[in-house]
Amino acid sequence: MKKDDIIRLQIEDMSAEGSGIGKLDGFAFFVKDAIIGDEIEAKIMKMKKNYGYARLVRILSPSPDRVEAPCPVARQCGGCQIQAMDYQAQIRFKENKIFNNLQRIGGFDRDFLEATREPFIGMDNPWRYRNKAQFPVGKSRDGRTITGFYAGRTHTIIENRNCLLGKEVNEEILDAVLDWMEVSGAQAYNEETGKGLLRHVLIRCGFTTQEIMVCLVINGKEIPKAHLLTEKLCQIPGMTSITLNVNCDRTNVILGRQILPLWGRTYIEDYIGDIRYQISPLSFFQVNPVQTEKLYGKALEYAALTGTETVWDLYCGIGTISLFLARAAARVCGVEIVPAAIEDARRNAALNGITNAEFFAGKAEEVFPVKYREEGMRADVVVVDPPRKGCEEKLLETIVEMGAERVVYVSCDCATLARDLRVLRERGYEVRRWCGVDQFPMSVHTECVVLMSKVEKWAAEKV
Ligand code: SAH
Repeated sequence: MKKDDIIRLQIEDMSAEGSGIGKLDGFAFFVKDAIIGDEIEAKIMKMKKNYGYARLVRILSPSPDRVEAPCPVARQCGGCQIQAMDYQAQIRFKENKIFNNLQRIGGFDRDFLEATREPFIGMDNPWRYRNKAQFPVGKSRDGRTITGFYAGRTHTIIENRNCLLGKEVNEEILDAVLDWMEVSGAQAYNEETGKGLLRHVLIRCGFTTQEIMVCLVINGKEIPKAHLLTEKLCQIPGMTSITLNVNCDRTNVILGRQILPLWGRTYIEDYIGDIRYQISPLSFFQVNPVQTEKLYGKALEYAALTGTETVWDLYCGIGTISLFLARAAARVCGVEIVPAAIEDARRNAALNGITNAEFFAGKAEEVFPVKYREEGMRADVVVVDPPRKGCEEKLLETIVEMGAERVVYVSCDCATLARDLRVLRERGYEVRRWCGVDQFPMSVHTECVVLMSKVEKWAAEKV
């Protein structure tokens, strides 16, 4: 086998990046745009020692789960890796992925996993779920000013003002911005020359409040004929905040630090459950509020709080889980590495009149052990929601040493989840229930929440 060879593949699995995986002579090939169940013809693009990359040439026999992708630019854009897969099949794929990782990496057996599994939480309507979109502005080949999305891993803009994962109103906003550029003479920023004004349009919508924020990321400090833009935008129902973000650096980073107000407030508000949040252009906020509420609802259920517990929320971000749990607990302590997120968490706690939540900026694997050993702080329930690399062993050891009764593990990577559960299981904890939650329909991202509790405690309760 060598580059440019044409091969036949049966796609049996999918990678973390959303490529189909098929095997030939024990050799795995990654093929973009192929889904599980497809039989395809592919051209080898690159060979590595144990695997290779191939390009989809022709579908010989489509997967029974294959559907026509509703978005006309789905393949070019690459943001939705599995739009060509029926939604119920997406759910099966995600659930199997969690199940297989828990079995293979976690060492749990099938019957046990079946017995502890709860129904996967998918979306009733898996479209238009995102509350945030960042559209780069640039020029098309024929010189028109366009906006859309970067094609996977490149800086080529695929023209698209109507992403099916975002709100319908995005298109109206982008049309208004493009019209204003035309009449004001504002130019699209050019990454190669560093010239031009408008870099990105950031749009956020409060799903509960219906408030809308538009933030123009500009290479400069002001825009020409700003009133023409704001006059138009402020007619859109729900428009609450129009701002500029200053980013004059030659960088891939989308947002600069400085926000300049143009019209209305500099933030919008939205809710997760009954907790209110202020969201500025720079704030982190979960992009799928509907599923986030379900995911954190599960975490709350698993935490089984009675009002007397101390809860630690590790990797707490802006404190979404902490605040969600605070009213049911005696005390909540959140730890997060990004100081600005901790400031947001504190502000949001105050905004909601929550006084039993404290937040610490720092590494979870450092702050948590230190607070335990040096200050004698304890936890009845520990919630972790780590990034993809999972938890540091030192952190898991601290959970064990302090003897927390329950651990609620919220995970965006079920491979590292399985690894960490195994560690806790070897040290006296057992999985009681687990549940997959779909936070990102049409993508391969897979969320999962697991309840573990101490074996001795569980046994005592059973007597
Ligand atoms: N539950 C949070 C999101 C968690 S995402 C929310 O709803 O907002 C994971 C978070 O872990 C990110 O905010 C990231 O900044 C943070 N993080 C990454 N490494 C960390 C570490 N070593 N210690 C603490 N936080 C960390």
